[in-house]
Amino acid sequence: MQDTAVQAITIFPTRQEQKEAFEFNKLQKRLLKQVGEAIGDFNMIQDGDKVMVCLSGGKDSYSMLDLLLILQQRAPIDFEIIAVNLDQKQPGFPEEVLPEYLTALGVPFHIEQQDTYSIVKRVIPEGKTTCSLCSRLRRGILYRVASELGATKIALGHHKDDILQTLLLNLFYGGRIKGMPPKLVSDNGQHTVIRPLAYCRESDLARYAEEKQFPIIPCNLCGSQENLKRKEMSALLKQWEKHNPRWIANLFTSLSTVVPSHLMDRKLFPFETIQPEGQPAPDGDKAFDDDEAC
Ligand code: SF4
Repeated sequence: MQDTAVQAITIFPTRQEQKEAFEFNKLQKRLLKQVGEAIGDFNMIQDGDKVMVCLSGGKDSYSMLDLLLILQQRAPIDFEIIAVNLDQKQPGFPEEVLPEYLTALGVPFHIEQQDTYSIVKRVIPEGKTTCSLCSRLRRGILYRVASELGATKIALGHHKDDILQTLLLNLFYGGRIKGMPPKLVSDNGQHTVIRPLAYCRESDLARYAEEKQFPIIPCNLCGSQENLKRKEMSALLKQWEKHNPRWIANLFTSLSTVVPSHLMDRKLFPFETIQPEGQPAPDGDKAFDDDEAC
């Protein structure tokens, strides 16, 4: 009798467990939909592609790999995935974590060992920000590795929040309207870089990574200060979102609904030569014009 009771407890999930499983399914479905949409909207992956998934050991890149592996099974096209990690020889980097995880998963992978940490420490004076040189070195190495592996796409784990922060950084510190593209050709003109998480929120990815219990590698091993300006933009976005969540959604939408004739970039719109043609202008967005001046 007691055995049956114990069995019942073991076999049937509690209401709480059912709720958690339901919430997780919902989250996974949402993320898969967003990744699928981003891939489709920007034609990121084609039949026969070999996608090099850059895996840092953080929550975003683990989630990206996981979601792409699921989509690979479901997609109507065939593409390969190879996970690549750059071991930058930062002190305390647990080098066994990723190989063990990827081997258990059965995913082809490559670990590139390059001591960029020492180079950065040698070149950059103490107390100065090391990130720009570090990322430049990392980028060069990843491009080389992609060529050596025959990868046709390089997938990076930047998400919607990264894109919005970059937009604000460029606006407030760079004086330009510029974000972070979901797809681009690399600086050396040789590779196509894609960002399949472009439509995913960071908070969703953090929850996903937690639920999936990915073996996260801390991102502060290099000892560098977090990018303070980016942190500032992140705080600003959080504040705006608290005030009105639609602001963030609309800010993101605005990246794909640009109206050059209502900006001031003379390279994008021929202000010097426009003439009235007696026809209503099709891109003349008048939604807020009436409120602007009195
Ligand atoms: S935080 Fe450290 S590892 Fe990351 S880019 Fe900056 S210097 Fe490089």
